[in-house]
Amino acid sequence: MRLAAIAEETAVAIRRDAAASAREGIISALDAQRLVSTYGLSCVRDLMLVLLEEAKRYAHPPISDFFVGAVGLASPSGDLILGGNVEFPGTHLAYTLHGEGYVATRAFNRGSELAVIAIGEAHPCAHCRQYLSEFAASDALELIDPLGHTLTLAQLYPWPFDPAYLGEPGALAAQLPWPELELAAAEVSRDIAAALLAAGRRAHAPYSKCPGAVVLELSDGRLVAGAGVESVAFNPTVGPLQAALVDLLAAGRPYGDILSATLGTVRGGAVDYSASTRELLGQIAPDARLAIVEWA
Ligand SMILES: [Zn+2]
Repeated sequence: MRLAAIAEETAVAIRRDAAASAREGIISALDAQRLVSTYGLSCVRDLMLVLLEEAKRYAHPPISDFFVGAVGLASPSGDLILGGNVEFPGTHLAYTLHGEGYVATRAFNRGSELAVIAIGEAHPCAHCRQYLSEFAASDALELIDPLGHTLTLAQLYPWPFDPAYLGEPGALAAQLPWPELELAAAEVSRDIAAALLAAGRRAHAPYSKCPGAVVLELSDGRLVAGAGVESVAFNPTVGPLQAALVDLLAAGRPYGDILSATLGTVRGGAVDYSASTRELLGQIAPDARLAIVEWA
């Protein structure tokens, strides 16, 4: 069904209802089903298309001022993940996250795979096709748009340079590739150390063998963590600070709420996130402290 088949006033009511139900950009499977039946939609996919406009609220594009939304269907939970594009003024454009990248990273942070992703009429750029193909579940990933198209990632990206090319399975959110990871002696709190290890152990770093994780400590004491997701093509790798910022922004928290960032990385390794984390953090939260911790 094309999105145009839904009356605009109905779409507005759905978005208002969804916004009230969403928790940090997540609409539970139960709420998604309730929205589908309350508003007489035929399926969750139609709901996802209606919510593309709502997902733009998660976009932060201060450079382009071009707001993009994307909505993912998480598997196996059935939760919906709303996300948007994120740009970081004053630093390298390569740190930019597109809506699809945001949603895929948010799913990975939550230990979910993506089964379906709804995108606007601007279809995924080559960078996003490459990033999405890094995830093992992308073999079956379907992309839908408001024009009524449904494509698998394989159709959209027919000759991929994907992890299988190197005999790798791709990123699996539910797995812990680094279960033995430990911290070298470091003066960080027990809570930050635990969050850093939990993130680092699930980092996707099969190519460099250099996992990276970041824990952000917010002004109210909350901790937000992210793990790096390497690309088989190296670009577009999402670094651990970018991954943590996805969850920060999903929570509606501004960069100014970051008191400190703790990075776990391989100092002097083939991939060392120290310099890039310092650079990006320095631009978005210049007053935040950065602690760098080595893995044991
Ligand atoms: Zn893109």
